[in-house]
Amino acid sequence: MQTFAQFPVFAAFLGLLAWTITTQAGRTQLQSKSRADWWLDSAGLLIQGIAIPAFQVFLIDQVYRPWLSIPPGCLTLSPIVTFLVSFVLVDYLYYWNHRLLHREGLWQVHQVHHTVTQMDVLGTSRNTLWTSFLIVYGWVHPLLIYVLADPTAYLWGVSLTAGLDLWRHSQAMIPVESWLHRCLSPWLILPQDHAWHHSSQVPHCNYGANFKLWDRLHRTYDGRDQLPAAIGIATPFSLMQKLLFPFP
Ligand SMILES: [Zn+2]
Ligand SMILES: [Zn+2]
Repeated sequence: MQTFAQFPVFAAFLGLLAWTITTQAGRTQLQSKSRADWWLDSAGLLIQGIAIPAFQVFLIDQVYRPWLSIPPGCLTLSPIVTFLVSFVLVDYLYYWNHRLLHREGLWQVHQVHHTVTQMDVLGTSRNTLWTSFLIVYGWVHPLLIYVLADPTAYLWGVSLTAGLDLWRHSQAMIPVESWLHRCLSPWLILPQDHAWHHSSQVPHCNYGANFKLWDRLHRTYDGRDQLPAAIGIATPFSLMQKLLFPFP
């Protein structure tokens, strides 16, 4: 079931990677990446692409099925509502999840994600080895897959959210004066918006994944047409500290 959701995400990843490699700016960007950052980003992508799906299967089979007092497939929703639960409702949960990661105490854990110094699809999952397990998706997706009678539309929402996450971290920006930008910019978090989240100046804004609505609602939205002058927040951590924080 989950393979069905992972395939379009993997295709989106390969497409964005191919786009990066075939542009001069993209090649320069990849060449300037340090060896430590290659290791860090590769580890993050493997955790996100292999360990988290395996953890979700474990949760369904070993935790939710034996311990929840509700039978599997007990929730019947129309495909549209199922998709909206995934793409809108879980998106709101993610907003608060991400915002909490910026609070004192959890920021030290999340800041590794903010060490990217350029928007880069390979850096999408940059984190400590275990921070991805603090993201709401890892726990909520298997729960919904377990309770929904037909989770197909839910998985489409999962795929779309994950594909947008990859795009948001890439340099495939939509030109500001284009019709596509005019259509998407009022409601969708674009790479430009997430670039400001990764900026050195104002990283505590634009927490949303899919919708701008949550940031606007809670006054954390920072929308600007130009890109930030500098991306990334430096830490004194070594590669091993970034992978294993708080364990030295
Ligand atoms: Zn953040
Ligand atoms: Zn990010």
